[in-house]
Amino acid sequence: MSVKGGYFFRILDVDLTRGETTIVPIDESFVLKYIGGRGFGARLVADHLKKSGGKCDPLGPENILVIAPGPLTGVYLPASGKNSFVTLSPATGIYGDSSMGGVFGVELRQAGYDAVVLRGRAPELSVLTIEDDRVGILPLPQAAGVSTLEAEKLVREATGDEDMKIASIGMAGENGVVFSCVNADWSRNAGRIGIGAVMGSKNLKSIAVRGSKDLPVYDLDALVRVSREGYDYLKSHEFFRFWQEQGLMSVVDYANAMGILPTHNFKETVFDRADKMNGYVMEDRYKISDTACFGCSMSCGNVCLVREGKYRGTVTEGPEYESAAMLGSNLGASNFAYILKANALCDDLGVDTISTGSIIGSMIEGLEKGILTQEDLDGDEITWGDEEGILRLIGKIAGREGVGDTLAGGAFAILKRWPDMEGVLSHVKGLEQSAYDARAAISMALGYGTSDIGAHHTRAWTVASELENGAGWGLEEKAEFVIYHQTIRPLFDMLGVCRLPWIELGFPEEYYQRFYQAVTGVERSMDDLLECSRHVYDLTRTINVTLGIDRKDDYPPRRTLVDPVPSGPTKGNVVDRDEYEKILDLYYEKRGWDSDGKPSLSL
Ligand code: SF4
Repeated sequence: MSVKGGYFFRILDVDLTRGETTIVPIDESFVLKYIGGRGFGARLVADHLKKSGGKCDPLGPENILVIAPGPLTGVYLPASGKNSFVTLSPATGIYGDSSMGGVFGVELRQAGYDAVVLRGRAPELSVLTIEDDRVGILPLPQAAGVSTLEAEKLVREATGDEDMKIASIGMAGENGVVFSCVNADWSRNAGRIGIGAVMGSKNLKSIAVRGSKDLPVYDLDALVRVSREGYDYLKSHEFFRFWQEQGLMSVVDYANAMGILPTHNFKETVFDRADKMNGYVMEDRYKISDTACFGCSMSCGNVCLVREGKYRGTVTEGPEYESAAMLGSNLGASNFAYILKANALCDDLGVDTISTGSIIGSMIEGLEKGILTQEDLDGDEITWGDEEGILRLIGKIAGREGVGDTLAGGAFAILKRWPDMEGVLSHVKGLEQSAYDARAAISMALGYGTSDIGAHHTRAWTVASELENGAGWGLEEKAEFVIYHQTIRPLFDMLGVCRLPWIELGFPEEYYQRFYQAVTGVERSMDDLLECSRHVYDLTRTINVTLGIDRKDDYPPRRTLVDPVPSGPTKGNVVDRDEYEKILDLYYEKRGWDSDGKPSLSL
């Protein structure tokens, strides 16, 4: 197999401590095996961990942060604006990655790199500037404590360049909040696992990129042909228009109807005021325009404005379903203007909305159950739907003020201080659960339990399929379905494309093989590409095993196994522990891992 396009065959390695940059060449066998994006990141993190003797503090200068678009990022095909951030996570202490949309990754490719590796720590708060082959580290002390958006302005002033694409952290990232994000293009985030804190630990407020190179495409005519087919497919889909109107906000009604909507910290799965915070409310009263990542006709981003009331003037992109559910129903709040305000505040401060909503929900329930006292929350009273109290707590988390200092440490720090919160705080491997209850679908529980980054839905979002079609499925089929998701989803991140056309509008898998072939000139089957992503999943598991993960860590959040759903369509559901042990055994067997969850691979 000879690679004729798709890559620059070089990685930019930046040592922030020494202020040195190196161009590291990569060869054909590397790009064929790891493809790009998450695949490159996993390999580089594994190599680094091996060199470090299997130990690495995620917030120490020794950790590396890999930023890697894929070979399809930024070329003419649907939803090709994705870019992976890969590192060891301060939230979990293990492997972590996050995929960011928008155009930042496209610009990075245009600067002529297949990946950037950041290591060390700059002597003071700085911005890394990348303009093709000119790379610089510019002090930016004036940006200390400012919002992600304000940081962009300061970078533009400092560089004198209005057109750079900029990714920044907020106050939370500077303060080492373990679920802090990196934000680019106003509202596109690399969230969940604390990439903001890793950037903050490197004294890096922002990364600013400007590129002028053409992207290497092997067969442009073939690419245009298959892309046009792809765009036509999406446009002709019966839900295309609805998707443009509501994007992921359409999931609120679905999750509520199916009995999987997190409500009152996952105690319940149906919210009686869901119709006050759904996609129709957004569309009718708040939405002012669509936004989209590079090349995406689905344009799922919703720019919203609050025109009246106490949150008047709030403008934000989103929220998408996860943010609306975790900051809304999960906290007993249905006022959509408040949800927009909370979403905008999280984006400005640079904290992950899912973890923030989950942690605040567990604080409210902890108080309700008497596990916590008002003194634990600095004398503050906070109850379900208490908008002011929630907004206050978000600010305290980002600023590490009072109890916010503990909450900023995520699930592990909370459980260390209050061990009895284990039954209340829903997490896997230290990462708080996403906005889909798993008690009605054991495959979703398995997906959360075995996820390589903790309880995150994008690793294996199987809940809808199991609820709708899984009546006749045995445990074996369910385990296989989880593995299928965990295999195809990395491929999207490796290629640099968004998974949503596939998962939401049934975009056929074969397109990705055809895009890959047109761009790289490499003829290989979809099965062959999937074998690469399966290997990457084995590799990330191997990283985690090296860091101490085994079977004991592969269980869903405790509530999933213990507390039956109290009401609604999934009433009485709970995942049976013995069934879970059986499906976990099947899962390991089908993956070729031993009974403790260890692959035969080594770093
Ligand atoms: Fe971005 Fe949404 Fe399009 Fe995915 S579907 S590429 S997240 S705009």
